[in-house]
Amino acid sequence: MPETWNIIIACEHGGNRIPSAYAEIFRHHRQLLDSHRGYDAGSLVLARRLARALDAPLFFAAVSRLLVDLNRSTGHRAVFSEVTRTLAPEQRQQILARYYLPYRDEVETTIARRVASGGAVLHLSVHSFTPAIDGRVRNADVGLLYDPARTAERQVCQQLQRALQSDHPELRVRRNYPYRGTADGFTPYLRRLFPDKRYAGIEIEINQRYPLGEQHAWRRLQSALSAACQTLERAKPR
Ligand SMILES: [Zn+2]
Repeated sequence: MPETWNIIIACEHGGNRIPSAYAEIFRHHRQLLDSHRGYDAGSLVLARRLARALDAPLFFAAVSRLLVDLNRSTGHRAVFSEVTRTLAPEQRQQILARYYLPYRDEVETTIARRVASGGAVLHLSVHSFTPAIDGRVRNADVGLLYDPARTAERQVCQQLQRALQSDHPELRVRRNYPYRGTADGFTPYLRRLFPDKRYAGIEIEINQRYPLGEQHAWRRLQSALSAACQTLERAKPR
């Protein structure tokens, strides 16, 4: 691991806002927008908390992933949802130009600038997952997604998992769950641009039963993650 990380916090699925120009096509999709498919409940609250605790810049989007999914590649089937997939190609281009590319470019440029000046960037992308899907309960409180082939990412996740579990043994922390860190997303895209020693992209996935449940437990989880991430700042050179 590098001596110190330049930490940035990101949140692609922070909200379920629909710009007024697209309100009409979402008129009958209020329920969908308010569901886990519309946004990642709690992710922006946690992202803000981590950014404050780590004094790190925060990049977030409040526009719903059902308009365009910032955590998918432009060529991926799911970059547009069932609501926007059928729009005319020019309209889809316009959505990319207005709501997708500015976010993706800003994060990429920030990382590139820091890497160019000799820094190493730790990109923590905050997400949340629905507690049950297709009748199956997901048995984790926190998921840490990374590429097992990247040494720095593996070490960061081990450190986070250790820090979380030593302070909160009751927390179920799993790696590459409920998704694999190498599946299509923003961090795999960025890994192709920056080497292991200069860039680590970790997705922190939290179970939505916390933000949508009892507030005391939700605040405790936020504190636990914030303290665990702060141990990364104190990472000593090896
Ligand atoms: Zn997400």
